[in-house]
Amino acid sequence: ILRMEDIVKTFDLGGGKKLTASDHVTVSLHKGETLGIVGESGSGKSTLAKILTRLYTMDSGRILLHGKDMTALKGEEFRQARKNIQMVFQDPSTAFDPKQRVRDIICEPLRNYGLIGKEKVDEKAREMLRLVDLPEDFADRYPNSMSGGQRQRIAVARALVLKPEIIICDEATSALDMSVQKTVIELLHRLQLETGVAYFFICHDLALANMFCDNIVVMQHGRVVEKIKDLSEAKDPYSRKLLASVFTIE
Ligand code: ATP
Ligand code: MG
Repeated sequence: ILRMEDIVKTFDLGGGKKLTASDHVTVSLHKGETLGIVGESGSGKSTLAKILTRLYTMDSGRILLHGKDMTALKGEEFRQARKNIQMVFQDPSTAFDPKQRVRDIICEPLRNYGLIGKEKVDEKAREMLRLVDLPEDFADRYPNSMSGGQRQRIAVARALVLKPEIIICDEATSALDMSVQKTVIELLHRLQLETGVAYFFICHDLALANMFCDNIVVMQHGRVVEKIKDLSEAKDPYSRKLLASVFTIE
């Protein structure tokens, strides 16, 4: 459903210095797939996510959604295409307005697209809270009164409210402790079975990526090193080194 093709993004660091954060990257995401993006810090994982959501512009390349080139879409046309791609960040506490109640946070995307009336917000928020296994009365609460895991579930609820085909998870579970991480991953997995959503799963935890993802793209210095089904198949010396650095720790 989604193909990022030959994506190039260079940052001008000043003083004539340039950094290529995305160096001719091509990745494809299929319907209902969980595609892991792994690689060391600074390898360009988040840059890809930001290009996809147009937080960053790219220097060259194209993005195809259902075979249709999104690259040149502007204004309302882009907004409609973008509806299909939602995002869950590492730490939603910074993405949430602390003065907004949970019901408004969850329904904000619907409001933005004019798809819900004020009187329906509470009902919809409760439905979404049930979906992510939170008590319905959380609709009244404020984000800062909740745990990290609960906030992450709210972020997932908000990402799903427009029924997108793609959710980008950028280190979505990295800030959570192991047991909470596990329950959020189980939630993502269940929602995928129920909705057929595809995940663009950015993650620096190789063991987690291996367990959760159907396919894994390994990145280094802005380039795709290889795409594999299971990290045990890694052939490239870089991926093997990355793996070794994880599994040999005492
Ligand atoms: P991490 O695992 O730490 O999140 P990452 O793989 O997501 O790393 P990116 O955030 O994509 O890495 O960054 C890739 C490179 O681009 C890094 O060297 C980073 O310093 C640089 N970079 C990212 N955003 C900018 C920016 N706005 N201006 C300048 N350089 C940037
Ligand atoms: Mg990142």
